[in-house]
Amino acid sequence: MIHKKTIKAYVYTRDQGKCYHCGKLIRLNRTTLDHYFPKSLGGTEEFFNLVTCCKPCNRMKKSAVPKDWVAINIALFKRAVSDGKVSNPPCDLDELIILAHGVESVFRNKVNTVFEGEGYRLYVKENKIYKIVRFHHE
Ligand SMILES: [Zn+2]
Repeated sequence: MIHKKTIKAYVYTRDQGKCYHCGKLIRLNRTTLDHYFPKSLGGTEEFFNLVTCCKPCNRMKKSAVPKDWVAINIALFKRAVSDGKVSNPPCDLDELIILAHGVESVFRNKVNTVFEGEGYRLYVKENKIYKIVRFHHE
């Protein structure tokens, strides 16, 4: 497990200290982390699902599911891979970056978040990629 402070520092830097929802600059000590896909509905504590959030926006958002959560999870996943934040890939980093950038969809099963590109799936849990499955479309 990655320490909470480490996660917050990365997310805050990545988002340039701005609330993801209203764009306001916030000091680190006033920052909350928002689970973009709500935690109450199974959203995970991973870099691709956490965004910098001011307190008023976090209170307002509650458990609403943003319409663009798929696109945001994918974009933040690509960013986390490029930043070397998704660890343990069963392939080398250059290959992983290429795979991450080809991701087109994301879904969740009971234990993982699965990022899917054409002909492959990346299984992610706790900011680790622990399985890459390649398949061929019939
Ligand atoms: Zn805000």
